[in-house]
Amino acid sequence: MLHFENSVCLRCGTRLGFLPDTLRLSACDPQPDGTIAVTAAPQGSAWVACGNAASAGCNWLVRADSGDSFCPACELNRTIPDLAVEGNEERWRKMEEAKRRLIYALKRLNLPLTSFQDDKERGLAFDFLADEPDAPVMTGHDDGLITINISEADSAERERRRVELGEPYRTLLGHLRHEVGHYYWDVLVRDRNKIDASREIFGDESADYGEALQRHYENGAPPDWENAYVSAYATMHPWEDFAETWTHYLHMVDTLDTAASFGMEIDPHVATTAELNAELAFDPYREPDFKRLVDAWIPLTVAVNSLNRSMGQRDLYPFALSTPAINKLNFIHDLVRGAV
Ligand SMILES: [Zn+2]
Ligand SMILES: [Zn+2]
Repeated sequence: MLHFENSVCLRCGTRLGFLPDTLRLSACDPQPDGTIAVTAAPQGSAWVACGNAASAGCNWLVRADSGDSFCPACELNRTIPDLAVEGNEERWRKMEEAKRRLIYALKRLNLPLTSFQDDKERGLAFDFLADEPDAPVMTGHDDGLITINISEADSAERERRRVELGEPYRTLLGHLRHEVGHYYWDVLVRDRNKIDASREIFGDESADYGEALQRHYENGAPPDWENAYVSAYATMHPWEDFAETWTHYLHMVDTLDTAASFGMEIDPHVATTAELNAELAFDPYREPDFKRLVDAWIPLTVAVNSLNRSMGQRDLYPFALSTPAINKLNFIHDLVRGAV
């Protein structure tokens, strides 16, 4: 069994590389000319390791004849942290590990993805930055540029912020999914004239963002937010509602896909109705019927949350989805599939 993050088979020591075209992890056969042959299809093509293999532990491969130094995930980096600063290399490695998982899902969903290398104005780019004494780094998105404060890669610091902000969930992968949600609002809603449809679901995004932000930090979320939103932060502004819902959609498809690949199904002993049963043998990245995703997701999260509690851990998915929140997720599903 191989895992997404592996660069070596832990059983036989064979070197592994991830093929970004076919999204497969393959055994690698290093050639005398310095290129890498792969055993997974398509065979016959020559590959090289991503330029971040040694520094960031990237296990993705690059086509030898492409002229590129970096894989499709790493080439999105505009700024990486100063690796001469103690601890930054480890922080950056954690960021890249989460980013590869993000890019994998975007590719599985066949979403349009333009690197800033090809579109300087609006292509997707990442700045991984550290706070300076007089310039704190704000995590956020602006016209394709995603900025992440690398202190979020320190688990103690991230946990401190999670508690301070009263959040049930805070991870690097969650941050990346959220910020790329803002990018996809631009690409799939704004640039494809879907603003009216989006407003019907999330509200009017032309509302003043600065005022909304201030109101949110002064008053917090309305007490009944769980009746219509996936998270408290989603109540802040329609753009944040979209990005938070987008994040949950990626949580769902990635986790359902992993569960399916382990052959999991949920059939609790207590169930007297089918509501808590889930059959997971389908591809959530391809499934047209959104109801099938939700019908599998809710029983799966109930079961896995219970597993976590057995280990004394917090819930894997510490959220409850209301009907309006499920309708918002359905909108994201249709948007991703080009069906809005
Ligand atoms: Zn890479
Ligand atoms: Zn946001």
